[in-house]
Amino acid sequence: MRGIDQRVAVFEEQLRQSGLRMTQQRRLILRVLAEADDHPDAKGIFTRAFAHDPTLSLSTVYRTMKILETQGAIERHAFEDGVSRYEHADQQHHDHLIDIETGKVVEFSSPEIEALQAKIAAELGYEIVRHRLELYGRRKPPTPRGKSKAKT
Ligand SMILES: [Zn+2]
Repeated sequence: MRGIDQRVAVFEEQLRQSGLRMTQQRRLILRVLAEADDHPDAKGIFTRAFAHDPTLSLSTVYRTMKILETQGAIERHAFEDGVSRYEHADQQHHDHLIDIETGKVVEFSSPEIEALQAKIAAELGYEIVRHRLELYGRRKPPTPRGKSKAKT
């Protein structure tokens, strides 16, 4: 994972490449985005940035994020709640588990799943270019102490 400043620099470069003028507001959005270590939606980014600059508009945030997504600097997820959530594209590949009760997003990665996917694709005559895996679950109630699990 890169440092915050490095991330901001990469984002700035991406915006410049798309011909966008660098403004204070865009710089602020980039910083908030770079600092986010969860999976915020555009409104979440807007709320965080708005705290620093109340003249900011949501459409500026949307536009800036759309460009970063197009440039591949941030990755968009459309989990089942229909809201687009974003995260930095500079991370190790991982998959997501979404808690259906709280909406919490848990990251995980599994070499076994990766290997199995490659095997299945190969059997079908394909190599995997990318994949998305989302698990939806709810927390299991804690097992009462002293009781053993599954008795058959
Ligand atoms: Zn993630």
